[in-house]
Amino acid sequence: MTVRAVGEAIPLAKPVLGETEERRVLEVLRSGRLSLGPLVGEFEQAFGRKVGAAHASAVSSGTAGLHLALRAVGVTEGDEVITTPLSFVASANVAVYERARPVFADIDPVTLNLDPQAAAAAVTDRTTALLPVHLFGYPADLTAFERIGIPIVEDACEALGAIDADGVRVGGRGHPAVFGFYANKQLTTGEGGMVTVADAAMKQRIDSERNQGRAPDMDWLDHDRLGFNYRLSDLACALGLAQLERLDDMLASRARVAEAYREMLPGVDGLELPCQDVGRIRRGWFVYVVQLPRGVDRDCTVRALSERGIPSKPYFPAVHLMSYYRERFGHRDGEFPVCEDVAARSIALPFFPAMTEAQVERVAEALRDVLERS
Ligand SMILES: *Cc1c(COP(=O)(O)O)cnc(C)c1O
Repeated sequence: MTVRAVGEAIPLAKPVLGETEERRVLEVLRSGRLSLGPLVGEFEQAFGRKVGAAHASAVSSGTAGLHLALRAVGVTEGDEVITTPLSFVASANVAVYERARPVFADIDPVTLNLDPQAAAAAVTDRTTALLPVHLFGYPADLTAFERIGIPIVEDACEALGAIDADGVRVGGRGHPAVFGFYANKQLTTGEGGMVTVADAAMKQRIDSERNQGRAPDMDWLDHDRLGFNYRLSDLACALGLAQLERLDDMLASRARVAEAYREMLPGVDGLELPCQDVGRIRRGWFVYVVQLPRGVDRDCTVRALSERGIPSKPYFPAVHLMSYYRERFGHRDGEFPVCEDVAARSIALPFFPAMTEAQVERVAEALRDVLERS
């Protein structure tokens, strides 16, 4: 097969980092106060304002935030936490950290989020938390989850900037909501995360547990509970503050790139694009994931795209079918058919704020070409 000359490589993801980031990080470096300094509170307050949350706690990763949020709603050994099998593995792992059991329920075929009815059917007398994920930035149906009447922790790691069906910014609903700041997210601090909450006591507990269990008014070496080192450094918070200043622009750019994909990717039989916003919902664009037509070999597609200079990757694999989850919890193929069908057909395409229309066009043309040949 002849392959057309490839242009300059297009990355799968790419953060926007500029002078503001450099200046703010340099200021912290020069101050000599690299952690437990003033920028933590500053970043938390600015972030809380941005998503409409009363309180926010900066943590060392999205995973750390999910872990502390689950503890904050009372999850403990032997409990069950209901979550989606179509996610990054962290959303299930955090239950295992507490010796609780992640209980999966199938997803909605359109939004790809945890199906509230399936979640309700999975509730037992051991269920102590629901952990819906706003997958790929599309808000989960929180009204329906709230009706179940069990504490909720929102995995909002992919959903910064999203607005839910009630017009509420994700993170501002009052449940602990957890954001992630790894380099491919809407906002990055390299590694990092944030937990937003409505309840002041919950923020206090999270702040204490991220810092070895030290109460706010305690001396350095006294601790009244078990904690972790899940702190976020001032260097990272400086980066976060700079990123917050440009967040609206970055989100608008992501939405523009998604729109370009939607315009340039039609007409391939069976190819499914991300669902569109309905009502007051606004997706916070994170990745551009398409589902390949049934019967198309995904690995061959990824390889053929790569030969054309286009990176892509299977995204996400089903969590319950990962080796650890199969072995530890006895999961097997066929348990969650909607999730497994989507997981087997999905690929993430290059997607980042600075992506040009010409780059989107190159990806779209390559994908169309590859699919027409297969
Ligand atoms: C990114 C992400 C996380 C958190 O990841 P960290 O690398 O720990 O920051 C959690 N859940 C989902 C769904 C994610 O995409």
